[in-house]
Amino acid sequence: MTRRLSIGSPILPGATLGVLGSGQLGRMFAIAARRMGYRVHTLSPDDDTPTGQIADLEIKAAYDDLDAVREFARNVDVVTFEFENVSSAATDAAEQFAPVRPAGGVLHTTQHRLREKTFLSASGFPVTPNETVRSLDELQAALGRLGTPAVLKTAGWGYDGKGQSKIESVAQAEAAWQKLNTSEAILEAWVPFRMEVSVVAARGLDGSYADFGVVANSHRNHILDLTVAPADVSEKVRRDATEIARAILEKLQVVGVLCVEFFLTHDDELLVNELAPRPHNSGHFSFDACLTSQFEQQLRAICGLPLGSTELLRPAAMSNLLGDLWSGGEPNWAAACRFPNVKLHLYGKSDARPGRKMGHITALADTPADAARAALAARDALLQQGL
Ligand code: AMP
Repeated sequence: MTRRLSIGSPILPGATLGVLGSGQLGRMFAIAARRMGYRVHTLSPDDDTPTGQIADLEIKAAYDDLDAVREFARNVDVVTFEFENVSSAATDAAEQFAPVRPAGGVLHTTQHRLREKTFLSASGFPVTPNETVRSLDELQAALGRLGTPAVLKTAGWGYDGKGQSKIESVAQAEAAWQKLNTSEAILEAWVPFRMEVSVVAARGLDGSYADFGVVANSHRNHILDLTVAPADVSEKVRRDATEIARAILEKLQVVGVLCVEFFLTHDDELLVNELAPRPHNSGHFSFDACLTSQFEQQLRAICGLPLGSTELLRPAAMSNLLGDLWSGGEPNWAAACRFPNVKLHLYGKSDARPGRKMGHITALADTPADAARAALAARDALLQQGL
């Protein structure tokens, strides 16, 4: 049964929201949706998933099972996603029965590094110097122009540093090309950045805009390790980064949440590294530290409701909990909970593989630096022996 809504009328509590994908982003979206009285359906190729454990209905089907996607869309009021590598065929199939927000075109642009970089450059946004590479010869020629070090990245399906290889000298080109095992890649100049920052932003159905400010991110093995909010940057950088984010969401006509990741150079120049058309790991702090979280904001945007205040209630930091923490047995949860200003989030994943995102910790404090120290200390405490 489908309740068809005329375009423009908000999707109100009691309605059913469909999420393509079933990881932790969908889980936290579903928690926000449940809190506001919505129902949630999720579709992914897995079961007993982080999102499925919270949702009203978990459908196990491949994303390219278009009949399953159509059936899924027929039973919800709006479709969103938490996994961006869904094909245009799937979003088109869903669109026949329910609005898809952000639209499939946003996904199509941002799920492929070459398309994304082309969009950004053509629209005048600052990006890392880069070239398209389709053979070893082209790679060697591009290295000649861009110099070394450089990073070779597959054109599609990349996240958390997967599908990329750093090249220190031209002599490493052949090995890097073989390792990537692809027919289409992008070579980027290595940016000796001062800091990595991101802006998680939302755009409503009416074109309204709100962002969660500029936050600082540090990575370990290409995976986000720590986010600190707000980032210690100048007022000008803050203004420039949020203006770039606003312009990107506007240009892409996003309805929903999108994260812009930047490199900040030693000259305070911002270069866009990557876009993610959904809530982002670097916005998880907002769940505890902001008046409206990135997940509630996604819900408000896709339902055509007014966006909420993104006010940061206190400086905050988020440390990721990867599967590696389980290598010596179950982490010491009680020890982390002993920090009174720390919130523990676990995603309900049973298989703690190294590098797998299992949860995160958010710490609130009087200063961003104190919050960062607390988020790291609470995570270290997980490895303490005994009670
Ligand atoms: P990505 O998957 O493209 O976001 O890359 C993951 C991480 O690798 C980034 O957050 C950076 O820490 C690092 N990285 C990627 N590309 C570059 C680059 N061109 N210069 C310097 N570091 C990079």
